[in-house]
Amino acid sequence: MQEEYAEVPQSTAEVEAEASAIANMEPLEQIRYAAKKFGSDIKDPDKNCNYCYGRGYTGKRKSGEPIACKCIYPEMNEATKFAYDQRQQVPRNRRERRYMLKNVSKMINK
Ligand SMILES: [Zn+2]
Repeated sequence: MQEEYAEVPQSTAEVEAEASAIANMEPLEQIRYAAKKFGSDIKDPDKNCNYCYGRGYTGKRKSGEPIACKCIYPEMNEATKFAYDQRQQVPRNRRERRYMLKNVSKMINK
């Protein structure tokens, strides 16, 4: 049973060490690190991107967390793309995703 929790940091010291390590990373590396943690990978930023100009992020939040640009996402499903284009809330669960997809098909069929 213990092996299942092997990757979870055990102490607050470890958590703090990880946090400071992340804070010292380049913004793009921070995004890459976060993406890996959630089991996905990101593409290299598009050098000709109109949003980030090849940086891979469009800005930073007050907390210092970089805002990832859409050009580094490997693929977007319809709902995510719609939400991004409309600058709307990205669906967080099945119910919101279905609601979003319903609206997407409504707009396409118009
Ligand atoms: Zn970009």
